[in-house]
This record gives sequence, structure tokens and C-alpha cells, in this order.
Amino acid sequence: MSDLTELYQSVILDHNRKPRNHGAPERFDATADGRNTLCGDALTVWVALDGDTLADVRFVGEGCAISKASASLMTQAVKGKSRAEADALFERFHALVTGREAPPAEGVRGPLGPLAALAGVSRFPIRVKCASLAWHTLQAALHREPGAPVTTE
Ligand code: ZN
Repeated sequence: MSDLTELYQSVILDHNRKPRNHGAPERFDATADGRNTLCGDALTVWVALDGDTLADVRFVGEGCAISKASASLMTQAVKGKSRAEADALFERFHALVTGREAPPAEGVRGPLGPLAALAGVSRFPIRVKCASLAWHTLQAALHREPGAPVTTE
């Protein structure tokens, strides 16, 4: 196993054991539920907005290590970003986990930061849905009318 693979696994394990921004907030402006029926992952994401900025992003979730770690990493990555920046980050992340974009040579010090730790899921199509669930759920919270549940199908 390469050093980079080990580093990536340790990032995922750490976020799975100690998820960041975990738990329902007292106040929020947008929320959505997401489900990945293939794996059984279920997430709720909440966003508090300050104008156009994602001032706070929190989640709770049940599911596999990849889905929880990805949700935790996502909350850290998008907090403080504008909607447009969060959308752009999702595009890059999605390209990474679907294998359309090569993993950054700089690893977690690259432009995607610790999100790069999930690059390995591109080799496992079922895991792509696990890694993308939190992002699809965030997109739903930000861009859809409240109500309809989200799936990654
Ligand atoms: Zn999963």
C-alpha cells in the first residue's frame, strides 16, 4: 500500500470515527434528506446562510464509513464558501470520485484539500454513490424546493 493510500484511509477513518459538524443545528435556512438505497446510507444536511455564504453546514447520517466520512469532509469543505463556490467544489469532487479527473498530485494539499482522500472510490462504482450522497443532498437543500427526498439513483 502506498503512503498516499494509507494517508487517505486514515483521513476517512478519522472522519468516520469523529465526524465534524455532526448533529442538528438550532437554526438553519435550508435542509434536505438524502438516501442511497443501494448501500442503505441515509443523511440529513442542514445549511445556515449568511447572505450568499454557507455560514454553517451540519449533518446527521446512518450508513457506511464512506458516506459518513464524505459528509463530514464536505461540511468542512463548504463552510464559509458562497453557493457558487460550493457548486464548483461539488463539480470538481464529482469529477474526482467518478474518475473523470485524475487525483491531485499534491494529495490532500492540492486544490481539493482533504476531499482528495476519497479519490480511491472512483474504482468502485457502488462507492461513488456513497461518497456523492452528502453532496447531492447539499445541492438539494440549496437548489430545490423543500420536501422531496433525494436519492443518488
Ligand atoms: Zn454507503
